[in-house]
Amino acid sequence: MKIINIINKKKTLSFEFFPPKTESNLGNLNKTISDLSEFNPDFVSFTYGAGGSTRKLTLEISQKTKESEITEVMSHLTCLTHSKSEIIEMLSAYKKSNIENIIALRGDIPNNSNDLKKEIHHATDLIEIIKNYSDDFCIAAACYPESHPESISKNDDLKFTKLKQSKGADFFITQLFFNNSDFFSFREKAIKLGITIPIIPAIMPITSTRQIRKFTNLCGASIPDSLNKKLENSINNDEETTKFGIEFATMQINELLNNDIPGIHFYSLNKSRSVKEVLNNINI
Ligand code: FAD
Repeated sequence: MKIINIINKKKTLSFEFFPPKTESNLGNLNKTISDLSEFNPDFVSFTYGAGGSTRKLTLEISQKTKESEITEVMSHLTCLTHSKSEIIEMLSAYKKSNIENIIALRGDIPNNSNDLKKEIHHATDLIEIIKNYSDDFCIAAACYPESHPESISKNDDLKFTKLKQSKGADFFITQLFFNNSDFFSFREKAIKLGITIPIIPAIMPITSTRQIRKFTNLCGASIPDSLNKKLENSINNDEETTKFGIEFATMQINELLNNDIPGIHFYSLNKSRSVKEVLNNINI
């Protein structure tokens, strides 16, 4: 089923997973998916290694989960390191596997410039390719409450966010963020600019101070000072950070739920504990 049709009917709950690097970790991922299925997610999504490293695995896990009928599936697809013909091949494979939902992404710029195919430059181009290939896909796209780190300005980034909608994106999922006011202010500006498709906020429960600092450095999300101080106190104690992360994510999601969001997406990091505890704390 197209996810947009679910979003149009109810507030959605969804989880993001990444394909593990080794086959042996696949068992852990399957257990996490099965653990979290008790919450009846509306969909799960599987990330795509930017260099195409998990290309096969993303497709395989998407297929298996789709076949299991546990929940609806969305596959991530990035374009910088692929030629147009490779993308068409991927789309054909997804279609054959009845995968109806794709989040169209540019991907991060690879360290080795030889990996760049220089054929598809932005998510907007990928969305156009998908749309031209088939109208049967529901297309999601990424958006950035604090703007994408490479953007010239917030306004410029918003303009390209709107272009994703114009090219055919059906809904957005945000980058992680820790300050809800960034999300609210982004959403307000997006609506003023004419963005009408749903914007689903995505939350990552923090489980390690060092890890979240690394992630936010990479993706350009900021950690508010007060949160950073708390995280510093438990820098060597991941158990304490995890407990605090659950409290913080609960607080963040409760406020978001009180402010008319179309659903909530969890960056699960392939672990079920924090997501489970947060979900037990809230009422979605
Ligand atoms: P784009 O939309 O192309 O934006 C990149 C930059 O270019 C921005 O500064 C934007 O303002 C600008 N821009 C956009 N369109 C144009 C245009 N037409 N002309 C000129 N400038 C433009 N990465 C992975 O490798 N695998 C994943 O599975 C993955 N999943 C993700 C899921 C979500 C929900 C999010 C938020 C991110 C995900 N990422 C993933 C990370 C993503 O690939 C990076 O953030 C990447 O740097 C940008 O991707 P994008 O699709 O937003 O790019």
